[in-house]
Amino acid sequence: MMKIFVFLGAPGAGKGTVASRIAEQGDALHVSTGAMLREAVKNGTPAGLAAKSYMDKGALVPDPVLLDMIGELLADAPADAELLFDGFPRNETQAEQLEALVRKHGATVARAICLDVPETVVLRRLGGRRVCPVCGMVFHVETLPPKQAGVCDGCGNPLAIRDDDKPETIKRRLEVYAAKTEPLIAWYEKTGKLRHVDASGEVDASVALVRDAMAD
Ligand SMILES: [Zn+2]
Repeated sequence: MMKIFVFLGAPGAGKGTVASRIAEQGDALHVSTGAMLREAVKNGTPAGLAAKSYMDKGALVPDPVLLDMIGELLADAPADAELLFDGFPRNETQAEQLEALVRKHGATVARAICLDVPETVVLRRLGGRRVCPVCGMVFHVETLPPKQAGVCDGCGNPLAIRDDDKPETIKRRLEVYAAKTEPLIAWYEKTGKLRHVDASGEVDASVALVRDAMAD
């Protein structure tokens, strides 16, 4: 049966990094909302075209379109696939809609895995992040430096610090995250699917702990 794993965690917890590492190691598919959107738009799927009409106007893609897009993904994925969701759902309504959609496709949301990190760790991680404004590739001055300092390995353009990754903004983002996501975490807790993982260490350590949580 197709299994969905929902990754939760504050900015800087490493959801995307851990999910993509697990995907690289095996048959699981990393489904980041942003990448899924870009892919659907590029492939011109019905939901992709609908999403594009919003994005072209600079508007957020509404939930029904996102859910259609996830439906397309579920329909295309192998029957025994494991999908690692990163960036969706963001609230309880989306979580309920995801459950219903997944069930319709004969799949199940197996676990919601919350990656826990203290604020000091988040500040260090996000503060060192550098992003390529052109291709979106992400680096870190300490843990994932580009081959040439300040230059994107992928496309050769200069790297930038996102406004989001400046210390004053990071603290604010953590507050917003906590306010928005605590109800979602509580919702998954009630379903019995929630597992907490200590994600304050190195990526490899987090990957191992998340794998344990997925299997348990
Ligand atoms: Zn680049």
